[in-house]
Amino acid sequence: MAREFARKFYNSKAWKKCREAYKQSVYGLCERCGQPGDEVHHKIYLTPENINDPYITLSFENLELLCSSCHSIEHNEKYSPLREGFGFDENGDLIRSE
Ligand SMILES: [Zn+2]
Ligand SMILES: [Zn+2]
Repeated sequence: MAREFARKFYNSKAWKKCREAYKQSVYGLCERCGQPGDEVHHKIYLTPENINDPYITLSFENLELLCSSCHSIEHNEKYSPLREGFGFDENGDLIRSE
């Protein structure tokens, strides 16, 4: 289940615009394997503490366009989804619970 803090953010116009602009800036290609990508990953994962910080949430520096397989590799390598304190949001992004 998505946490409320992240749901609001992902539904925001600012994020949708930013996501599209970022995607175009990398030509819609996964930055790891070059396949068409459609998941914009936050390198610094979103938390209730940083969700209101546009330097983290909306900064191109913190974004990476990934295809779904690279995205799941990224998350599976770093954290097991079953690990306590982590969960997936509605974009399939792994987020930290408080
Ligand atoms: Zn990829
Ligand atoms: Zn991600």
